[in-house]
This record gives sequence, structure tokens and C-alpha cells, in this order.
Amino acid sequence: PQLTELDVNALIDMILAFHVKTHGGASSGAAPVTITRDLQPVPELRADPMQLQQVLLNLVLNAVDAMPEGGTLSVRTSATGSAIQIEISDTGRGISPEHVEKIFLPFFTTKPKGTGLGLAICKQLVEQHGGAISVAPNPAGGSIFRVQLPSPAPTP
Ligand code: ADP
Ligand code: MG
Repeated sequence: PQLTELDVNALIDMILAFHVKTHGGASSGAAPVTITRDLQPVPELRADPMQLQQVLLNLVLNAVDAMPEGGTLSVRTSATGSAIQIEISDTGRGISPEHVEKIFLPFFTTKPKGTGLGLAICKQLVEQHGGAISVAPNPAGGSIFRVQLPSPAPTP
């Protein structure tokens, strides 16, 4: 990875702005998704910006895919000791217990035109940064994906 000092909150704002611009508005066809964000001050990361962007964008697009009838996409960041935590949650269809074991495997998809590669790539990239990714049910319905990244990241 090409490690540089990175402001995760700024990267998230950029991704959300991009999403609203390309998929928001009445012309998108899908039901509207409300976006909420709660970005706490977090230390700068040493990370590859393109790779982290790919991780977060994959999670945002999955969250939106899970809410064809609309819902709420929430993005939260927080600092937890020597790590930063990014949570991307949706109020969509959720993940059944028999699928949850498989979603990070390459080529596992439940979508007619899915590749099944998004989460496998997310996991690989996050782990290359010394971090971890996990999923949990959202108490509000839907799913919460959590990415934890060490700050500062270990030098490769
Ligand atoms: P793809 O999006 O091409 O299907 P992914 O690797 O990104 O591949 O996701 C794999 C599968 O995990 C999806 O097909 C879907 O079944 C499930 N999944 C991922 N994110 C979510 C989510 N936010 N809510 C519900 N299911 C999800
Ligand atoms: Mg995907």
C-alpha cells in the first residue's frame, strides 16, 4: 500500500458527497436513503487513500443495495485507544445467520448481478493495514459493518 497521512473523516465526507451526487435525487429510481453521520475527532491514519476509499465505498454501496425500499445509512467514526473505528450501518434487509459466515468469501453473492468480491476485497485491504472488519445486526434492523484500523498503522 501507498501509505500517507490520512484524515478519515474528510475521506468519508468525500465519499458521501460523491454518493449523493451520483445516486441521490429523484432520478435514481430507488427509494430515498437518508444519510446520517457522526464523525468524532480521530487521529490521522497512515493508510493508502485509494484502498481505504475502496473499502468505504464498497460498504456504502452494499448498505444502499440492502435498502431498496429506502432507509437510513449511518456513518460513525470514533477513536478507541490506539485504534480508530468506522461504522457503516443500514436499516435494510439484514443478513441471515447462514449467510453471515460466507459474506467475506470471494464470489459469495446473493445479488443477481453481484460479483461477491466487494467484502472479500474490503477484508483483504483492511487486514493489509493491520486492521479488522466485522459485521453485527443493527438493533434498528439491518446491519452494522465495523472497520477498526490501528493508529498509527504499523510500518509495512
Ligand atoms: P456483492 O455486493 O457483489 O454481492 P459483496 O462481497 O460486496 O458482493 O457482498 C457479498 C454479499 O454479502 C451480498 O451479496 C449480500 O448478500 C451480503 N451483504 C453485504 N453487505 C450487506 C448489507 N449491508 N446488508 C445485507 N447484506 C449484505
Ligand atoms: Mg458489494
